[in-house]
Amino acid sequence: MPAMLEIDLDKCTGCGDCVEKCPTQAVELVSGKPSVVRPDECDYCIECEIFCIPGAISCSFEIILADPGDIPKID
Ligand code: SF4
Ligand code: SF4
Repeated sequence: MPAMLEIDLDKCTGCGDCVEKCPTQAVELVSGKPSVVRPDECDYCIECEIFCIPGAISCSFEIILADPGDIPKID
C-alpha cells in the first residue's frame, strides 16, 4: 500500500486551503473537514502539507530497508 497523508482533525480549522491547492482534487471538504476522497489521484506532491498553516497535514514517507544480502559491496 502506498504511503498516505495524515490529517489531524483536531488541528484542522476547516479553512479549505488544502482543497484549493491540491492539483489533483484528491482531497475535498466533507462536512467541513478535509478528506482524501480520491486516494488514487493523490500523487504525494505535499502541496497540502506546505500550505496547511496549522500544520494539520503530514505526508509521511515510507522507509524501505534493503535486504542486507542485496546491498552491493563498497571496495
Ligand atoms: S489546509 Fe489544513 S487547516 Fe485548512 S482545511 Fe486543510 S487540513 Fe484543515
Ligand atoms: S499530497 Fe498533493 S495530490 Fe495528495 S492530497 Fe495533498 S496536494 Fe493533493
